Amino acid sequence: PLSGRVAIITGSTSGIGLGIARALAEAGADIVLNGLGDLGQIETTRNELADTTGVKVVYNGANLLDGADAASLVTDTLNQFGRIDILVNNAGIQHVSPIEDFPVDKWNAIQALNLSASFHTIRAAFGPMKAAGWGRIINLASVHGLIASPYKSAYVAAKHGVLGLTKTVGLEGAQFGITCNAICPGYVWTPLVEGQIEDTAKARGISRDDVINNVLLAAQPTKRFVTVEELGAASVFLCSDAARSITGVALPVDGGWTGQ
Ligand code: NAD
Repeated sequence: PLSGRVAIITGSTSGIGLGIARALAEAGADIVLNGLGDLGQIETTRNELADTTGVKVVYNGANLLDGADAASLVTDTLNQFGRIDILVNNAGIQHVSPIEDFPVDKWNAIQALNLSASFHTIRAAFGPMKAAGWGRIINLASVHGLIASPYKSAYVAAKHGVLGLTKTVGLEGAQFGITCNAICPGYVWTPLVEGQIEDTAKARGISRDDVINNVLLAAQPTKRFVTVEELGAASVFLCSDAARSITGVALPVDGGWTGQ
Protein backbone atom coordinates (compact mmCIF):
# COMPACT_ATOMS: atom_id res chain seq x y z
CA PRO A 1 0.00 0.00 0.00
CA LEU A 2 2.93 2.40 0.54
CA SER A 3 4.99 1.50 -2.51
CA GLY A 4 6.42 4.56 -4.25
CA ARG A 5 6.43 6.44 -0.94
CA VAL A 6 9.62 7.65 0.76
CA ALA A 7 9.78 7.57 4.57
CA ILE A 8 12.25 9.12 7.01
CA ILE A 9 12.27 7.56 10.47
CA THR A 10 14.48 9.41 12.96
CA GLY A 11 16.28 7.35 15.59
CA SER A 12 15.73 4.14 13.64
CA THR A 13 19.03 2.38 14.34
CA SER A 14 17.37 0.55 17.25
CA GLY A 15 14.21 -0.02 19.26
CA ILE A 16 10.89 1.53 18.27
CA GLY A 17 12.26 3.48 15.30
CA LEU A 18 13.71 0.35 13.73
CA GLY A 19 10.41 -1.50 14.32
CA ILE A 20 8.49 1.28 12.58
CA ALA A 21 11.03 1.40 9.72
CA ARG A 22 10.60 -2.36 9.24
CA ALA A 23 6.79 -2.12 9.16
CA LEU A 24 6.84 0.76 6.65
CA ALA A 25 9.38 -1.12 4.49
CA GLU A 26 7.19 -4.25 4.57
CA ALA A 27 4.31 -2.01 3.41
CA GLY A 28 6.47 -0.99 0.44
CA ALA A 29 7.95 2.40 1.34
CA ASP A 30 11.59 3.27 0.63
CA ILE A 31 13.33 4.01 3.91
CA VAL A 32 15.77 6.60 5.25
CA LEU A 33 17.28 5.27 8.47
CA ASN A 34 18.75 7.73 10.96
CA GLY A 35 20.36 7.47 14.37
CA LEU A 36 23.59 7.03 16.25
CA GLY A 37 25.59 3.86 16.73
CA ASP A 38 28.34 1.66 15.35
CA LEU A 39 28.55 2.29 11.58
CA GLY A 40 29.33 -1.36 10.83
CA GLN A 41 26.29 -2.52 12.77
CA ILE A 42 24.10 0.12 11.11
CA GLU A 43 25.28 -1.06 7.68
CA THR A 44 24.34 -4.65 8.63
CA THR A 45 20.87 -3.45 9.71
CA ARG A 46 20.49 -1.43 6.49
CA ASN A 47 21.41 -4.41 4.30
CA GLU A 48 19.21 -6.83 6.22
CA LEU A 49 16.19 -4.52 5.96
CA ALA A 50 16.74 -3.95 2.23
CA ASP A 51 17.25 -7.69 1.55
CA THR A 52 14.20 -8.90 3.48
CA THR A 53 11.78 -6.26 2.16
CA GLY A 54 13.08 -5.45 -1.34
CA VAL A 55 12.74 -1.69 -0.86
CA LYS A 56 15.51 0.89 -1.08
CA VAL A 57 17.05 1.60 2.34
CA VAL A 58 19.59 4.37 2.93
CA TYR A 59 21.20 5.70 6.11
CA ASN A 60 21.65 9.34 7.08
CA GLY A 61 23.67 10.03 10.23
CA ALA A 62 22.32 13.53 10.98
CA ASN A 63 22.73 14.44 14.64
CA LEU A 64 19.32 15.79 15.58
CA LEU A 65 20.57 17.72 18.60
CA ASP A 66 21.52 20.29 15.97
CA GLY A 67 18.66 22.07 14.19
CA ALA A 68 20.53 22.58 10.92
CA ASP A 69 21.54 18.90 10.88
CA ALA A 70 17.91 17.91 11.49
CA ALA A 71 16.77 20.00 8.52
CA SER A 72 19.54 18.49 6.37
CA LEU A 73 18.09 15.01 6.99
CA VAL A 74 15.06 16.16 5.00
CA THR A 75 16.91 18.14 2.32
CA ASP A 76 19.37 15.24 1.76
CA THR A 77 16.37 12.92 1.29
CA LEU A 78 14.80 15.32 -1.21
CA ASN A 79 18.07 15.45 -3.15
CA GLN A 80 18.40 11.66 -3.11
CA PHE A 81 14.80 10.57 -3.78
CA GLY A 82 13.13 13.72 -5.12
CA ARG A 83 10.31 13.36 -2.59
CA ILE A 84 9.40 13.00 1.08
CA ASP A 85 6.03 11.42 1.82
CA ILE A 86 6.28 10.09 5.37
CA LEU A 87 8.15 11.62 8.31
CA VAL A 88 8.32 9.74 11.61
CA ASN A 89 9.90 11.78 14.41
CA ASN A 90 10.97 9.07 16.83
CA ALA A 91 14.46 9.88 18.16
CA GLY A 92 14.37 10.60 21.86
CA ILE A 93 16.31 10.42 25.10
CA GLN A 94 15.40 10.35 28.79
CA HIS A 95 16.95 11.59 32.01
CA VAL A 96 15.52 10.99 35.47
CA SER A 97 16.29 13.40 38.31
CA PRO A 98 14.53 15.50 40.97
CA ILE A 99 13.98 18.97 39.51
CA GLU A 100 16.21 20.81 41.97
CA ASP A 101 19.18 18.71 40.81
CA PHE A 102 18.14 18.34 37.16
CA PRO A 103 21.27 18.96 35.05
CA VAL A 104 20.73 21.99 32.83
CA ASP A 105 22.59 20.39 29.91
CA LYS A 106 20.25 17.36 30.09
CA TRP A 107 17.20 19.65 30.08
CA ASN A 108 18.53 21.45 26.99
CA ALA A 109 19.44 18.23 25.17
CA ILE A 110 16.03 16.67 25.85
CA GLN A 111 14.19 19.76 24.55
CA ALA A 112 16.49 19.82 21.49
CA LEU A 113 16.07 16.15 20.56
CA ASN A 114 12.61 15.23 21.86
CA LEU A 115 10.87 18.46 20.77
CA SER A 116 12.84 20.92 18.63
CA ALA A 117 14.22 18.29 16.21
CA SER A 118 10.62 17.51 15.20
CA PHE A 119 10.00 21.21 14.51
CA HIS A 120 13.08 21.37 12.27
CA THR A 121 12.28 18.21 10.27
CA ILE A 122 8.60 19.13 9.87
CA ARG A 123 9.51 22.67 8.87
CA ALA A 124 11.77 21.31 6.10
CA ALA A 125 9.35 18.59 4.90
CA PHE A 126 6.10 20.56 4.99
CA GLY A 127 6.56 22.62 1.80
CA PRO A 128 7.35 19.59 -0.39
CA MET A 129 4.44 17.61 1.14
CA LYS A 130 2.12 20.55 0.47
CA ALA A 131 3.31 20.77 -3.13
CA ALA A 132 2.70 17.01 -3.55
CA GLY A 133 -0.76 17.24 -1.94
CA TRP A 134 0.00 14.27 0.33
CA GLY A 135 1.98 13.76 3.51
CA ARG A 136 2.02 11.73 6.70
CA ILE A 137 3.77 12.99 9.83
CA ILE A 138 3.92 10.81 12.93
CA ASN A 139 5.50 12.02 16.16
CA LEU A 140 6.46 9.48 18.83
CA ALA A 141 5.28 11.07 22.04
CA SER A 142 4.58 8.89 25.10
CA VAL A 143 2.01 8.40 27.83
CA HIS A 144 4.23 11.11 29.32
CA GLY A 145 2.84 13.46 26.65
CA LEU A 146 -0.54 13.03 28.37
CA ILE A 147 0.28 12.52 32.04
CA ALA A 148 3.31 13.04 34.27
CA SER A 149 5.56 11.00 36.52
CA PRO A 150 7.87 12.57 39.10
CA TYR A 151 11.55 13.18 38.27
CA LYS A 152 10.97 13.31 34.51
CA SER A 153 10.42 17.08 34.16
CA ALA A 154 12.35 17.56 30.92
CA TYR A 155 10.91 14.48 29.21
CA VAL A 156 7.30 15.16 30.29
CA ALA A 157 7.57 18.84 29.27
CA ALA A 158 9.03 17.95 25.86
CA LYS A 159 6.46 15.20 25.17
CA HIS A 160 3.57 17.51 26.14
CA GLY A 161 5.12 20.01 23.71
CA VAL A 162 5.15 17.37 20.98
CA LEU A 163 1.37 17.03 21.32
CA GLY A 164 0.94 20.80 20.92
CA LEU A 165 3.13 20.73 17.81
CA THR A 166 1.15 17.75 16.49
CA LYS A 167 -2.20 19.55 16.82
CA THR A 168 -0.89 22.73 15.20
CA VAL A 169 0.67 20.93 12.23
CA GLY A 170 -2.51 18.86 11.89
CA LEU A 171 -4.46 22.10 11.41
CA GLU A 172 -1.93 23.59 8.99
CA GLY A 173 -1.91 20.44 6.84
CA ALA A 174 -5.62 19.73 6.89
CA GLN A 175 -6.42 21.23 3.48
CA PHE A 176 -3.32 19.88 1.78
CA GLY A 177 -3.66 16.12 2.23
CA ILE A 178 -1.17 16.13 5.10
CA THR A 179 -1.97 14.50 8.42
CA CYS A 180 0.07 14.87 11.60
CA ASN A 181 -0.53 12.57 14.54
CA ALA A 182 1.22 11.45 17.69
CA ILE A 183 1.57 7.92 19.04
CA CYS A 184 1.75 7.70 22.84
CA PRO A 185 3.29 4.37 23.85
CA GLY A 186 3.31 2.94 27.35
CA TYR A 187 6.17 0.63 28.32
CA VAL A 188 7.60 -0.86 25.14
CA TRP A 189 9.52 -4.10 24.87
CA THR A 190 13.05 -3.18 23.71
CA PRO A 191 16.42 -4.86 24.33
CA LEU A 192 17.10 -2.04 26.78
CA VAL A 193 14.09 -3.02 28.91
CA GLU A 194 14.97 -6.71 28.66
CA GLY A 195 18.34 -5.94 30.30
CA GLN A 196 16.62 -3.99 33.07
CA ILE A 197 14.44 -6.98 33.96
CA GLU A 198 17.38 -9.29 34.67
CA ASP A 199 19.22 -6.60 36.63
CA THR A 200 16.19 -5.66 38.72
CA ALA A 201 15.34 -9.31 39.46
CA LYS A 202 18.88 -9.91 40.74
CA ALA A 203 19.04 -6.63 42.70
CA ARG A 204 15.70 -7.23 44.46
CA GLY A 205 15.95 -11.01 44.71
CA ILE A 206 12.56 -11.46 43.08
CA SER A 207 11.42 -13.42 40.04
CA ARG A 208 11.40 -12.16 36.49
CA ASP A 209 7.57 -12.26 36.49
CA ASP A 210 7.41 -10.19 39.68
CA VAL A 211 9.67 -7.57 38.15
CA ILE A 212 7.49 -7.37 35.05
CA ASN A 213 4.13 -7.26 36.85
CA ASN A 214 4.88 -5.41 40.07
CA VAL A 215 7.74 -3.12 39.17
CA LEU A 216 7.89 -2.27 35.47
CA LEU A 217 4.26 -2.81 34.54
CA ALA A 218 2.72 -1.54 37.77
CA ALA A 219 0.89 1.20 35.84
CA GLN A 220 0.09 -0.83 32.70
CA PRO A 221 -3.20 -2.74 33.19
CA THR A 222 -2.49 -5.36 30.49
CA LYS A 223 0.68 -6.37 32.41
CA ARG A 224 2.21 -6.87 29.01
CA PHE A 225 4.77 -4.75 27.21
CA VAL A 226 3.77 -2.93 24.06
CA THR A 227 5.80 -4.36 21.16
CA VAL A 228 7.62 -2.48 18.42
CA GLU A 229 5.57 -4.53 15.93
CA GLU A 230 2.36 -3.07 17.39
CA LEU A 231 3.77 0.45 17.01
CA GLY A 232 4.83 -0.41 13.45
CA ALA A 233 1.31 -1.57 12.60
CA ALA A 234 -0.22 1.58 14.12
CA SER A 235 2.16 3.69 12.02
CA VAL A 236 1.28 1.84 8.80
CA PHE A 237 -2.40 2.46 9.56
CA LEU A 238 -1.83 6.19 10.17
CA CYS A 239 -0.01 6.34 6.81
CA SER A 240 -2.87 4.65 4.95
CA ASP A 241 -5.53 6.45 2.96
CA ALA A 242 -8.10 4.97 5.37
CA ALA A 243 -6.63 7.25 8.08
CA ARG A 244 -6.81 10.45 6.04
CA SER A 245 -9.45 11.98 8.36
CA ILE A 246 -7.40 11.29 11.46
CA THR A 247 -5.20 14.29 12.19
CA GLY A 248 -3.92 16.20 15.18
CA VAL A 249 -4.66 13.35 17.57
CA ALA A 250 -2.68 11.60 20.27
CA LEU A 251 -3.12 7.82 19.97
CA PRO A 252 -2.27 6.00 23.19
CA VAL A 253 -0.84 2.51 22.63
CA ASP A 254 -0.38 1.91 26.32
CA GLY A 255 -2.22 -1.20 27.48
CA GLY A 256 -4.80 0.94 29.29
CA TRP A 257 -2.32 3.05 31.31
CA THR A 258 -3.99 6.42 30.63
CA GLY A 259 -7.49 5.01 31.11
CA GLN A 260 -6.95 4.81 34.86
P1 NAD B 1 16.17 3.78 21.83
O1 NAD B 1 17.14 4.36 22.79
O2 NAD B 1 16.11 2.31 21.62
O3 NAD B 1 16.33 4.49 20.41
C1 NAD B 1 16.52 5.86 20.29
C2 NAD B 1 17.02 6.16 18.89
O4 NAD B 1 17.32 7.56 18.81
C3 NAD B 1 18.30 5.41 18.54
O5 NAD B 1 18.26 5.03 17.19
C4 NAD B 1 19.37 6.47 18.76
O6 NAD B 1 20.53 6.26 17.98
C5 NAD B 1 18.63 7.70 18.29
N1 NAD B 1 19.25 8.94 18.76
C6 NAD B 1 19.66 9.26 20.01
N2 NAD B 1 20.25 10.48 20.01
C7 NAD B 1 20.20 10.93 18.72
C8 NAD B 1 20.65 12.11 18.07
N3 NAD B 1 21.28 13.09 18.74
N4 NAD B 1 20.45 12.24 16.74
C9 NAD B 1 19.83 11.26 16.04
N5 NAD B 1 19.39 10.11 16.61
C10 NAD B 1 19.57 9.96 17.93
O7 NAD B 1 14.74 4.37 22.32
P2 NAD B 1 13.27 3.80 22.07
O8 NAD B 1 12.84 3.15 23.34
O9 NAD B 1 13.16 3.06 20.80
O10 NAD B 1 12.46 5.19 21.97
C11 NAD B 1 12.08 5.80 20.74
C12 NAD B 1 11.05 6.90 21.00
O11 NAD B 1 9.91 6.37 21.65
C13 NAD B 1 11.58 8.02 21.90
O12 NAD B 1 11.09 9.27 21.45
C14 NAD B 1 10.99 7.67 23.26
O13 NAD B 1 10.84 8.81 24.06
C15 NAD B 1 9.66 7.08 22.83
N6 NAD B 1 9.06 6.19 23.85
C16 NAD B 1 9.70 5.04 24.28
C17 NAD B 1 9.08 4.21 25.24
C18 NAD B 1 9.72 2.91 25.75
O14 NAD B 1 9.16 2.29 26.68
N7 NAD B 1 10.82 2.45 25.19
C19 NAD B 1 7.82 4.56 25.74
C20 NAD B 1 7.22 5.73 25.28
C21 NAD B 1 7.83 6.54 24.33
